[in-house]
Amino acid sequence: MRVLTAHPFPGPAWEELRDVVYAEPSELERPREDIEALVVAGERVDGALLDRLPSLRLVANYGVGYDRVDVGECHRRGVAVSNTPRVLDAAVADLAFGLILAARREIVARDSAVRRGAARRGWAQGRLAPDVSGATIGIVGMGRIGSAVARRALAFDMRVLYARRRTGQTTDCYKAELRGLDDLLRESDIVSVNVPLTPETRGLIDARRLALLRDGSCLVNTARGEVVDQEALVRELVSGRISAGLDVFTGEPDVPEELLGLDNVVLTPHIGSATTSAREAMTRLVVENILAVDRGDPAVTPVPAS
Ligand code: NAP
Repeated sequence: MRVLTAHPFPGPAWEELRDVVYAEPSELERPREDIEALVVAGERVDGALLDRLPSLRLVANYGVGYDRVDVGECHRRGVAVSNTPRVLDAAVADLAFGLILAARREIVARDSAVRRGAARRGWAQGRLAPDVSGATIGIVGMGRIGSAVARRALAFDMRVLYARRRTGQTTDCYKAELRGLDDLLRESDIVSVNVPLTPETRGLIDARRLALLRDGSCLVNTARGEVVDQEALVRELVSGRISAGLDVFTGEPDVPEELLGLDNVVLTPHIGSATTSAREAMTRLVVENILAVDRGDPAVTPVPAS
């Protein structure tokens, strides 16, 4: 099976693919008759691209979030879509917790104060930060990653609230309490956003909902920037009313200029799954999906029709 991608991927599993064509992201759209699998990591897959790859049988998404792949259009053309769920849950939840700790305890701002020498007078003094342990965390989207965040939160003696889409669904986090989204935002000291980006979740946390957040609370987004109204979030952060830890943005790789000088926000460049073991396991899943479809079997981690 001839595979097209813009990237080599980390880990030994990638070497198992015998026939890989590399192209710059901008060259993926060149017509190619012989490509049967396409591996994408954030590139858009739409009808126009599919038109140019008429032999395609699989779009393998290197990542769990497949919001840039037009899954319906792929399925209409008989092209399977796969993603890489589960193997990155711990890495993303760890980063969410890193952002929670860094934003709540102002670790980045305090680090730069130390480096500037500004902390020399009044060492270990200054403004007191809000607690992490014992806080109430609200998890928006209690799926695989949200549940991994919840398990970490329990180890920090937090009270865990969660909102999810389907009513009647339970969670494996036995101590978590279900809330409607608005109530969750009103009651939480920390909010972790863990929903996929879908037409339903685009702008889910809009200006009205951001205004529900408690003064001094902290919003952590490791899902997708577009789930939160970014302009409204910037206004809240500039006002200093809340803090945030953000791994994802609307319009990546750009980041709003207004955020760059703020001490109450910690910024990372979409690195949720960027650990060695998570990325190597993602590569293995991509390769297993390609080999399965090549044999004529279904993809091992298929993206279902929505
Ligand atoms: P998942 O297991 O499918 O969980 C998503 C959860 O969101 C589900 O519990 C779902 O609820 C809930 N949900 C969906 N729509 C909702 C809504 N309108 N209101 C409330 N809850 C809603 O997905 P996952 O594997 O945890 O991944 C979540 C997302 O994380 C991915 O889609 C991706 O965008 C993002 N991600 C980011 C990084 C990074 O590098 N920063 C890395 C990996 C993943 P139901 O169960 O009720 O349907």
